[in-house]
Amino acid sequence: MDHPRWAASSIGMFSVSSLIWNNVLPPKMQFFGWLMWKHKIKTSVFLQKIGVLTGGVSTLCYFCKEEEESVRHVLLHCPFVWNVWSSLLKWWGLQWVIPDSVAGLLSWWESGKLKKRERKIWKIVPVALWSIWKLRNDCLQRG
Ligand SMILES: [Zn+2]
Repeated sequence: MDHPRWAASSIGMFSVSSLIWNNVLPPKMQFFGWLMWKHKIKTSVFLQKIGVLTGGVSTLCYFCKEEEESVRHVLLHCPFVWNVWSSLLKWWGLQWVIPDSVAGLLSWWESGKLKKRERKIWKIVPVALWSIWKLRNDCLQRG
């Protein structure tokens, strides 16, 4: 009987650590993947939660300024970010139901239902997530 095998893990099973540590991504992106998985990306909501942002500092998403800047919002659900995902998926000729969370996105990866071509495409998804976060930071620094 055939079953999917996750090549990044020595036992053939998906694990977040295999995604993060065995991936061929640069260390910066691997670390970002770990932070993303742990929901510790320094969004304004996170910074407020740990007491770095206080007082009247806005925790709204920098892109849309309509919702709180949570990890899942800024990387998946923000209308501006979703436009990027939609464009990428359309470009790749894929259909996708937006996952509810970043963990859901990573679970989609573990599903093993991807065809060979899709698996190649999927490898750049962490890069896309990193690029979205970098763009957010660049915009924030420019004001
Ligand atoms: Zn937004």
